[in-house]
Amino acid sequence: HANRTVGVDKNVWVEFTQLAADYKAVNLGQGFPDFSPPQFVQDAFCKAVSGGPSMHQYTRAFGHPRLVKSLAKFFSRIVGHEIDPLEDILVTVGAYQALFCAFQALIDDGDEVIIVEPFFDCYQPMVLMAGGNAVYVPLRPKEGSAVLSSRDWVLSPEELSSKITPRTKAIVINTPNNPLGKVYQMEELQMIADLCLKHDLLCFSDEVYEWLTYDGAKHVKIASLPGMWERTITVGSAGKTFSATGWKVGWAISSGHIIKHMKIVHQNSVYHCATAAQEAVASGFEREYELFGTPESYFQQLPVMLHHKRQKLASCLQRVGLQPVMPEGGYFMITDISSIKVDLNDESTKDESYDFRFVKWLIKEKGLATIPVSAFFSPEHSKEFDKYIRFCFVKEDSTLDAAEDILRKWS
Ligand code: PMP
Ligand code: GLN
Repeated sequence: HANRTVGVDKNVWVEFTQLAADYKAVNLGQGFPDFSPPQFVQDAFCKAVSGGPSMHQYTRAFGHPRLVKSLAKFFSRIVGHEIDPLEDILVTVGAYQALFCAFQALIDDGDEVIIVEPFFDCYQPMVLMAGGNAVYVPLRPKEGSAVLSSRDWVLSPEELSSKITPRTKAIVINTPNNPLGKVYQMEELQMIADLCLKHDLLCFSDEVYEWLTYDGAKHVKIASLPGMWERTITVGSAGKTFSATGWKVGWAISSGHIIKHMKIVHQNSVYHCATAAQEAVASGFEREYELFGTPESYFQQLPVMLHHKRQKLASCLQRVGLQPVMPEGGYFMITDISSIKVDLNDESTKDESYDFRFVKWLIKEKGLATIPVSAFFSPEHSKEFDKYIRFCFVKEDSTLDAAEDILRKWS
């Protein structure tokens, strides 16, 4: 086997999704809706697959023409920059492949990549597989005050800038953040942008939860800040946008001089993603363009629905004595579990961190699946953050009720 497969073998989704299935657990673990995507994209998909031979064949490698056109039109308005559909967009097999193409195309052997923690776990193996070195900077809970919201987790500008060296190539951020739910504020993004400009760095901005914000938190694209379009790779996901994670349609948007290198990785590996799925997503964005900002827009309706589910899960956790960190965005909620006293002496898990052992116990003994939060931290920092677990709330109310039943019975 090749060296690049060494040290990146563990995967929290593979492990815990299997465990949840084996124990038929109520699943608030892996992040996917257990309800259907909106009817209009389902109809668009059905129409695409019954729409004649071309929908079943190859399409343009870098994105189905109708999809890149609709993405360019939609996001030009948001980012405040005229996006060229053919030059500035790469459609990929989910946000995962957009990230993979970005790391492979832009990171060289020995380059350093700064990752803000907690981070979506795949960034680390992707940096390593590109030959780069990951350098970590944690968001930390503010000292002194009760940490009730993801807003109370902050990045220290001094700590961040102290990590920059002549080998630093890029900073990776994720807003709204998975697993914390933090939505970066304008001043925080400006601070990161200033460092990128000063040190000539790229910014990888993972924005798959861009439509999901609550309580007036506003998602800002770092690519829209002055000077950042030229150096930011913005990653998005139709899976998260239209509640259809199994379609695996994602994209990267950036300046053509960056995307052209990512296209090389893509054309020599995956080539393109499913034509009919791209057609359906295109139709979804065309609809959303027309309805933008209105109550009929799915990008308005989904956060309204999730706001209710967020409340429901938070109240349930509070009722059993768990204090959630209220997310300003995304569809996850983390909570401190140090107040729960359980005997975790399962021999098979004794070398693992506390949260991993706790989650395994919760699945096996109580039939409830969640995700251990230390999976979103580097080995250096995971010990400091092994007393949190993550709940996913993009679930039917009946699923959330079933989780509540389990929590109530045992606490
Ligand atoms: N980034 C983040 C922050 C995620 O939570 C996920 C999981 N959906 C992805 C990227 C990957 O997205 P996709 O399913 O479109 O590949
Ligand atoms: N992004 C999803 C989550 O955070 C799952 C990703 C995966 O299953 N690989 O739960």
